[in-house]
Amino acid sequence: MNPRMNFDQASKGIPMLKDKVAIITGSTSGIGLGIAKELARLGADLVLNGFGDSGEIETIRSGIEREHSVRVVYDGADMSKGEAVRGLIAATVEKFGRLDILVNNAGIQFTAPVDEFPTAKWDAILGINLSAAFHGIAIAVPQMKKQRWGRIVNIASTHGLVASTHKAAYVAAKHGLVGLTKVVGLETAGSGVTCNAVCPGWVRTPLVEKQISDIAAQRSISQKEAVKELLAEKQPSLDFASPAQLGGTVAFLCSAAADQITGTAISVDGGWTAQ
Ligand code: NAD
Repeated sequence: MNPRMNFDQASKGIPMLKDKVAIITGSTSGIGLGIAKELARLGADLVLNGFGDSGEIETIRSGIEREHSVRVVYDGADMSKGEAVRGLIAATVEKFGRLDILVNNAGIQFTAPVDEFPTAKWDAILGINLSAAFHGIAIAVPQMKKQRWGRIVNIASTHGLVASTHKAAYVAAKHGLVGLTKVVGLETAGSGVTCNAVCPGWVRTPLVEKQISDIAAQRSISQKEAVKELLAEKQPSLDFASPAQLGGTVAFLCSAAADQITGTAISVDGGWTAQ
């Protein structure tokens, strides 16, 4: 495919990602949903994935489809199960005949000191936050290489680059994901396929809301004060990044301007990792 295709399309008023098919894992909420909406706005057909109330998921699915005139399907594959991840990719290729963009976003969090960290939580975090990306990439890469174009975006974290206490599994998984990104970037270099990681700092989603409530409870302070403390401790901008901004970062990585960006990690963290 002509690498300038999406620039040329844009100049003719054709949405940049028209006729492209994107899977976003964990897109029923938070960052994944923000990414899904942005890729749909740019014309991509979508496969949504993640857990939640089936009525609410259908409202999200049909809403995106209506608003952006793209095809949106939902697949509830469990990212903690390798075979289910592989099945999600295979079913997408079967349904749409192609796969252009894979965003490995599904993730969970659990905090505890390393000597108290429950083994089941360690296994679940490594499974969903790291191994799922391996399984998805393993099936997606041959398909993308065949098409001579593909974008793999792994939603890592500042915790893929630096550490914090009580997050042994999360930090290990996210560092692993940044490492996997480098390997896949090398193995696909020159094929039209790129693989990059995006490393958000604090983004106010359900995943972080629980950590805010924990701080408020531990220190007997209000939610508002807990938010201030959370940001002040790590994020110099003192503001959250938003799911829509993360959507914009992924969209940039899907543009022709990013054709030569591969195997790298892009921080969207208000200065967290510059310190
Ligand atoms: P979220 O809890 O709002 O969303 C997580 C999504 O993953 C949901 O759609 C959920 O249903 C899905 N999910 C969870 N377990 C799953 C499973 N087994 N199978 C399929 N789907 C599953 O969280 P978020 O904050 O939007 O996080 C999204 C990603 O961004 C995660 O990988 C997280 O580590 C990363 N991240 C978040 C922040 C932040 O501040 N919120 C910062 C850095 C990185």
